Amino acid sequence: MSDYTMNSKDFYKALADQKLIGSHCKFCDAYAIPQKSICPKCHQQESEIIEFSGDGKLVAYTVISVPPVMMAEAGYDAKNPYCVGIVELVEGPRISAQILDVDMHHPENIKIGTQLRMTTITRGEDEKKVTYLAFRPI
Ligand SMILES: [Zn+2]
Repeated sequence: MSDYTMNSKDFYKALADQKLIGSHCKFCDAYAIPQKSICPKCHQQESEIIEFSGDGKLVAYTVISVPPVMMAEAGYDAKNPYCVGIVELVEGPRISAQILDVDMHHPENIKIGTQLRMTTITRGEDEKKVTYLAFRPI
C-alpha cells in the first residue's frame, strides 16, 4: 500500500519525502509521471501508484538566462543561469526538471545522454515552502 494517492498534491508531498512517484497501468503496463488515475496511453482506470528509482538520462535541455519571476527571485539571472532538462527515467517516462551541477556557462559541455539521479530543491519560507524535483549527474 502506498502512502500517496492520485491527488496531484501528493506528487510534491512525495518529493518532500525525497521520493519520485508516478503511476503504473496494470492494463497496458505504461508508466506516467506525475501519477494519473486514467492511463494516458490506454485510458483505462487500472493505475497504481509506484515509486521510481530516480535514475534517468538527459534527453534535451536548455539553459535559461532570462528567468521567469519565480526563478529570478531564487537568484537566477544572466550571470547565474540555470538549466532545465527533459529527463527520461530508466522506467521510461519523461519529465522536465531543473538540472544541477552542469556547466551552465558552457552549455555546449552539457551532453545528451548524461546519467542523472533525482534530488530536490526547496524554495520559499515556512508554509510557502515547496519542494521541487531536480536532477544532477551521477
Ligand atoms: Zn494503460
